[in-house]
Amino acid sequence: MECINETNIEKLNTNLNNCLYIKREDLIGFSFGGNKARKALKFQKEIIKKNSDVIITYGSSSSNHCRIIANMAKMMNLRCIIVSPIENYKETYNSKLINMFGAEIIKVPVNKVSETIDDLIEKYSESNNPYFIPGGGHGNLGTEAYVDCYNEIKKYEKKNNIFFDYIFFATGTGTTQAGLVCGQYLNKDFNRKIIGISIARKEERGKQIVIDSIKNYLNNNEKEFIDLVEFNDKYISNGYGEKNKEIFETIKSVLFSNGIALNSTYTGKAYYGMLEYLKENRIENKNVLFINTGGLPLFFDDLEEIR
Ligand SMILES: *Cc1c(COP(=O)(O)O)cnc(C)c1O
Repeated sequence: MECINETNIEKLNTNLNNCLYIKREDLIGFSFGGNKARKALKFQKEIIKKNSDVIITYGSSSSNHCRIIANMAKMMNLRCIIVSPIENYKETYNSKLINMFGAEIIKVPVNKVSETIDDLIEKYSESNNPYFIPGGGHGNLGTEAYVDCYNEIKKYEKKNNIFFDYIFFATGTGTTQAGLVCGQYLNKDFNRKIIGISIARKEERGKQIVIDSIKNYLNNNEKEFIDLVEFNDKYISNGYGEKNKEIFETIKSVLFSNGIALNSTYTGKAYYGMLEYLKENRIENKNVLFINTGGLPLFFDDLEEIR
């Protein structure tokens, strides 16, 4: 995991009135790929620099972030402690992988998570050198990872003489979105829309967190960039992990026509949201980029239902 090669951008087969492209973050070559892998590389560098010996992080039983961090810790021969909310804890392919990597999972009620993390950091600071990674790889390092991604998109555009009018992707903790918008701001590309399709959070809270992350990274007044933040909560249906027929049909359709596997928690939901958005807003004859943020093991959690 020394460096991440740039991920491909490919044209998709669709029957849309727009040209649809996909950026294959799902093919990042570490631990089944995805946006958490791009972020993890930034954390890995810090962990090496700080010579830490214990990694502490947080996430649910279906967390892609926790799988990747547990795999990274195993590879680096470091202890990995994951705090997980006990509510809705279920066995998933990610949780099985996390177990296989030997991470220690501490299950607590969701309202005890932050206190538990503080206690762990304090406890391990006495005899070890712990490194804490916020859930989902949130924070400036995660943001920076997606500024890099934005710059890859710019490079592709220049080389192929194309301009993406819209960029869509699944937004959760908002770090991916914050990085992309910082990239847009720094490149002064004010003539395209970057639209995060929320997979769980309502707009008010979700958008504020994206704004705070950008402020933190750019050290700038939010007036400068606030108009660039579009956090769309229209397609969250019943919230995180909610599965429905429309999403399953979308997943099947993309797999059948392009051989690309999406999942119901993130990418399938966002792809479905994107299609609805394009339809509702009568967007035609545009170049549209969808970022496939990965989460491959989640596809297999759904396989029986999708069939
Ligand atoms: C975490 C995750 C997201 C959301 O990324 P954030 O940076 O947390 O907004 C999207 N897709 C997948 C597959 C993820 O695992």
